[in-house]
Amino acid sequence: MTTAPTTAPAQGTEETQDAGHVDVLIVGAGVSGIGAAHHLRDQFPDRTFVILDAQDNRGGTWWTHRYPGVRSDSDLFTYGYRFKPWRGPSIAAGEEILAYLDEVIDEDHLAGQIRYQHRVTAASWSTADRRWTVEVTREDTGQRLRYTTGFLWMCQGYYNHTRPYRPRWEGMDRFQGMIVHPQQWPEDLDLTGKRVVVIGSGATAATLIPAIAGKAEHVTMLQRSPSYYFAPPANDPLAVELRALDIPEEWTHEILRRKFTAQMDLLARMSMESPSELHGFLIESMRPLLPDGFDVDKHFTPRYRPWQQRIAIVPDGDLFAALREGTASVVTDTIETFTSRGVKVSSGEEIPADIIVSATGFNLSLFGDVAFAVDGEPVDFTGRVTWRGVMISGVPNMAYVFGYFRHSWTLRVDLVCDLLARLLAGMRDKGATMVTPELRPEEADMPLLSFADPDNFNAGYVMRTQHLLYKRGDREPWTHLLEHEQERDILPKADLDDGTLVYR
Ligand SMILES: Cc1cc2nc3c(=O)[nH]c(=O)nc-3n(C[C@H](O)[C@H](O)[C@H](O)COP(=O)(O)OP(=O)(O)OC[C@H]3O[C@@H](n4cnc5c(N)ncnc54)[C@H](O)[C@@H]3O)c2cc1C
Repeated sequence: MTTAPTTAPAQGTEETQDAGHVDVLIVGAGVSGIGAAHHLRDQFPDRTFVILDAQDNRGGTWWTHRYPGVRSDSDLFTYGYRFKPWRGPSIAAGEEILAYLDEVIDEDHLAGQIRYQHRVTAASWSTADRRWTVEVTREDTGQRLRYTTGFLWMCQGYYNHTRPYRPRWEGMDRFQGMIVHPQQWPEDLDLTGKRVVVIGSGATAATLIPAIAGKAEHVTMLQRSPSYYFAPPANDPLAVELRALDIPEEWTHEILRRKFTAQMDLLARMSMESPSELHGFLIESMRPLLPDGFDVDKHFTPRYRPWQQRIAIVPDGDLFAALREGTASVVTDTIETFTSRGVKVSSGEEIPADIIVSATGFNLSLFGDVAFAVDGEPVDFTGRVTWRGVMISGVPNMAYVFGYFRHSWTLRVDLVCDLLARLLAGMRDKGATMVTPELRPEEADMPLLSFADPDNFNAGYVMRTQHLLYKRGDREPWTHLLEHEQERDILPKADLDDGTLVYR
């Protein structure tokens, strides 16, 4: 059991209360944090831990995003954990993912370890004390708390959950209707009889538009440039068949995981080795689903290589059905100005709107905007290097989870948890209380590269913030953002005694 109490006792000063000590402190109760807690409890049942989350409920991304139709892009056999079979359709609604996470919380008895509305604001490492001091502010009461921990596990995701990315457009103040961001969707928003313009063409737009198309008077997708789409069946036929044969769910889960992993490997490989072939395949598989005479070149033929940004999944082609039925349409143009009645684009056309949805994405947040310090020195991450996308050079006893861009995020959660379990067990065996990634002498002059190579992945939220992020090196183990196909080999075999991890 944790020594961190459910409600903080008044032990410290009036301003900041001492909330106790835990062996491991997990930040974030999303897919990563809940997965981390499962593996920790499973492999180290005697370790104490808490999960702190700034939100008032579990789920992270799936709690923040509650706009109509919110769903996964990935299949849930790989987006689900390795240890818990997925029993639903391949592509799942946000609520179904939350229900799955609730089951994990129940089965692992994690509820007692999660503290909601606990925002971590700062973390300072003391080598003398071999511990982190973690400053927390309660979102509901403003109360300040202080935890200490031997190991900090950052599972905070990659974007700011309270401040979505809202570009400014000319004339926005003039617009008489309502402007909504999907990250902050008003629960009671009634779309009946409303003309809706959705700005954006990524996964959010592709999800939202079919969900509201029948309800609103009309929905216009307004995009500056096209994205890639892929339209698999919402219910994978192999899963349907295996379930009809009454195959144990554990087997179905594993078989489908292998099927989808192989499919994703192939897509990722094609995007590098034969991008024009993949481009052609994606465009041609969409064409028959679009209305007759639809201008595919203008609206649905992207200018970048497939997978430089995420391919948006359109299960059963529902976005295209809305276009065929005429409840939705697409405009590809740049916004010149908002007007009092809608949006005027460069062609001169004014698109009338009662509601404008800016499906424009995220503001990236580095480690949950926590201010880090090591032995009194603030940590400037821009000068640090990632160790396998799991730890950061010069930062002791801190690991983080950053999932895949292309494969399911959760595949990496399980792999990173295995690596951490090996690391923690190794520290125990060595009698070490501190582990720090440090460049070896021969790596001192290693070229440091930006967080992401734009040629590989150039989503807006990463490109806007590259200059604020930590770096990668040009060789193992200072790399990250590798494909799952590489990492599922590399991470389990990673040598934890190669001299890049310094134990004390
Ligand atoms: C709409 C949408 C759909 C997506 N679909 C897919 C998909 O199909 N497949 C895929 O692989 N990926 C998808 N993603 C990416 C998705 O973010 C990841 O799959 C995954 O949910 C990330 O989980 P996480 O637990 O790491 O982070 P998050 O889900 O972001 O959760 C992090 C949690 O940490 C908390 N937190 C952050 N900072 C602090 C702090 N300082 N103090 C306390 N708590 C803090 C937050 O409140 C949040 O609850 C999608 C993203 C979005 C927005």
